[in-house]
Amino acid sequence: MNADNAAKPIYVTDVILRDAHQSLIATRMRTEDMLPVCEKLDQVGYWSLEVWGGATFDACVRFLKEDPWERLRQLRAALPNTRLQMLLRGQNLLGYRHYADDVVEAFVERAAANGIDVFRVFDALNDLRNLETAIRAVKKTGKHAQATICYTTSPVHTTALYIKQAKALRDMGADSIALKDMAGLLTPYATYDLVKALKEAVDLPIFIHSHSTAGLAALCQLKAIEAGAEHIDTAISSFAGGTSHPATESQVAALKGTQWDTGLDLELLQEIADYFREVRKKYHQFESEFTREDVSVQISQVPGGMMSNLANQLKEQHALGRIREVFDEIPRVRKDLGYPPLVTPTSQIVGTQAVLNVLSGERYKTITNEVKRYLAGGYGQPPAPVDPQIQKQAIGNGEVIDVRPADLLKAELPQLRAEIGEAALSEEDVLTYAMFQDIGRKFLEERNSGTLTPEVLLPIGSNDRPADEGVPTEFTIDVHGESYQVSITGIGALGAGKRSVYLTLDGVPEEVAFKPLNSFVAGASSERGGRVASLPGHVTTSMPGNIVDVLVTVGQQVTAGQAVLVTEAMKMETEIQAPLAGTVTAVNVVKGDRVTPGDILIEIE
Ligand code: MN
Repeated sequence: MNADNAAKPIYVTDVILRDAHQSLIATRMRTEDMLPVCEKLDQVGYWSLEVWGGATFDACVRFLKEDPWERLRQLRAALPNTRLQMLLRGQNLLGYRHYADDVVEAFVERAAANGIDVFRVFDALNDLRNLETAIRAVKKTGKHAQATICYTTSPVHTTALYIKQAKALRDMGADSIALKDMAGLLTPYATYDLVKALKEAVDLPIFIHSHSTAGLAALCQLKAIEAGAEHIDTAISSFAGGTSHPATESQVAALKGTQWDTGLDLELLQEIADYFREVRKKYHQFESEFTREDVSVQISQVPGGMMSNLANQLKEQHALGRIREVFDEIPRVRKDLGYPPLVTPTSQIVGTQAVLNVLSGERYKTITNEVKRYLAGGYGQPPAPVDPQIQKQAIGNGEVIDVRPADLLKAELPQLRAEIGEAALSEEDVLTYAMFQDIGRKFLEERNSGTLTPEVLLPIGSNDRPADEGVPTEFTIDVHGESYQVSITGIGALGAGKRSVYLTLDGVPEEVAFKPLNSFVAGASSERGGRVASLPGHVTTSMPGNIVDVLVTVGQQVTAGQAVLVTEAMKMETEIQAPLAGTVTAVNVVKGDRVTPGDILIEIE
């Protein structure tokens, strides 16, 4: 056997516990569905299992009401023989803003201490300055620092640029390089050329993380292997394909008997796949038709996780029918912003702005705070120049920074510790608060008082499609031990703050008025119920969300265009402006309220 044919096993990272369910069921898999199969997972001989990341952490705190640190400790204990891997958003850690270096250092140290062995670190803009602190912190713990190149296509994203980045990452001390193709944009021959060039430029192991969105990822991985890549990310078959990843078993079978044989046991993998096939059924309400293979990603560049989240968000506001318009708008916004790769947080920044541009009927009529911050240099340097006119519209003559954003931040941990106070029982709790602020605090307080309430999973077999798609939505409801069959066959007229639906209960159809659940508001804002914005001075919102801040009080004079509210939708903040000049006559919302389009939030006369 000559040197070229010498055995060179390919190492496999299975992403079933992180990216696979993030890409297919909105990151909802619970720890209780992971632990029973860990013994088998631990026997496979994977190079690593990806178990943690921003979205899993977020979903734990926001929806599942699980302590993400506790999940990590449980997985660590259940997987003693397998490296655990996490995805870290560089200076953003697992959150959506830049943190000061002391928070980055503390987070990495605690994540390592709780069980992470491999840190895959990326920056959404590939601004490598945003990786430096995290990589240094990982090296300090003695764990594996994997630096990431986010792959995208644009006039400025050339092989030469990626090689320059790879060399800089090597010089930073990276132990390996991940080529992260979050949207499934790689094509097989482009992969071959890029990996070949990277292997010639830097002597580091290369990991191929590619989503099957366009149906090409398995082919890309094979070409990457031929070009010298050593590692592939796969998902066990029952959570593979589409916006997820190539199936583990398929790749293992494809390489079997070759010089790249992974050595993994297909029968054991099949047992694991059978287990997760059953698990997946429990989460049917989070399945989306937009997670299937769709080559249009080669045009829109929307990554898998973003596609299923956008679909869920639009569904919530009965605007799912406009998703194609949003997909068309995304590349335009991306060009305006200097071609950022689309990955958290830029995927949300671009995606939310695209939704606003479509739903509000006028591009950049409303600009999110994150887009303003982005255009002011607050996330780092965009890959290409931004549109100067939109930049001016967004930030006026405000300052644009060109230093590393975190250089402008003072140490934050002391203040975070003081803010969260006794609700934090550990340093990990302080970091949970640091990541998610109000939601983090709420989680910690509810955990401490034993009042955490996870979101409800619809029973298997119920049809959860939205009623306005013309398909009956059927539920089985159990009340005091009796089961009722309920089906909703359509949405009726919008009344005063209420909408009627056509409800069939035990076969008898009836039109019943309901207040939509997503406009339910408790306490101080209840006076808003019953009326819908109709006058020019009624301030409303174009997307359902939460009130983050109220900037005006009753009696205050405001000018047209003045910011009066800050809302949060799709994890992005938006300032809502006064539609006209006048006096504020009513403020119907307080911080924390859930609001929906049509609600009268503020009245100006
Ligand atoms: Mn991914």
